[in-house]
Amino acid sequence: MIESLSYFGELLTGPFNYIANPQKRIFWLYLLSNGLIAFAILYGRKHSIFEILRAGFSTRTWFNSSSLLDLQWIFLNHVINRILIIPLLGGQIAFALGVNRILSLHFGEGNFIHWHGLSVSVCFTLCLFLCDDFSRFYVHYLYHKIPQLWRFHAIHHSAESLTPLTLYRIHSVEMLLNSMRSLVVTGTLSGIFIYCFDGAIDTIQILGASLFNFLFNMAGANLRHSSVWLGFGRLENFFISPAQHQIHHSARARHLDKNFGAILAIWDRWFGSWLASEGQQINSFGLVHRKVEQHLGKQLFGLSNNH
Ligand SMILES: [Zn+2]
Ligand SMILES: [Zn+2]
Repeated sequence: MIESLSYFGELLTGPFNYIANPQKRIFWLYLLSNGLIAFAILYGRKHSIFEILRAGFSTRTWFNSSSLLDLQWIFLNHVINRILIIPLLGGQIAFALGVNRILSLHFGEGNFIHWHGLSVSVCFTLCLFLCDDFSRFYVHYLYHKIPQLWRFHAIHHSAESLTPLTLYRIHSVEMLLNSMRSLVVTGTLSGIFIYCFDGAIDTIQILGASLFNFLFNMAGANLRHSSVWLGFGRLENFFISPAQHQIHHSARARHLDKNFGAILAIWDRWFGSWLASEGQQINSFGLVHRKVEQHLGKQLFGLSNNH
């Protein structure tokens, strides 16, 4: 009885705990470091401390109809994730062992590469980072190019005010597809490594992945969903900057379908969708040439397919 009560309690209030969870981008330490970065940027642009604080804590930023809809999606998705997606797609280890078994059946005995455990872990971490980042890019690219997928991804783009919470404003179908992508990529790569390499992949790969995540989040990841403009200059040839993701959210036609990347910029350069932030200006965020109502009920089945 107490267990089921606490389960339902967590179901309804879980998103409040994101702020205490280092796996989430809105973990308090990341928000603090990103807030300090934003402060330093704006202060460097000759805004007074009073102006910066007033903009940062303005109710117009946090309590407009777009931001309130972000919150509704967060709570809805938390429930769907708990009752549907985690039970369905939680078995990454089982998936990896399944891949290993299929490879063994088709190609015979594995474990034919004999590397030191540390080398295997470093190699795995790098491969996972590249595969994960490319698959994020490519799935994002497909969301924009396939009309049946765009109708769900358009929910994320219909945000007219960007705050760190906008990261979680995605349609539940997109959340499901993203979880499937993660399962397939991590499970397949783990299975291939378990098959090929003699010796287990130890915890270093997990720590390595966490370290990437920690550095990415501390270094301004939350500014991607904000109106604080932070470009990386020439580094944007390699890494997507917060300003480039803001361009991705821009309502200007010339910014349509630019900068799909998550961390690395090489995929956008390869697909011709890369746009540097220098010289660009954003007038407003949202769908191009289109306004939609910030209403959960009207977005539940996705948005119709006008771009
Ligand atoms: Zn997009
Ligand atoms: Zn976004």
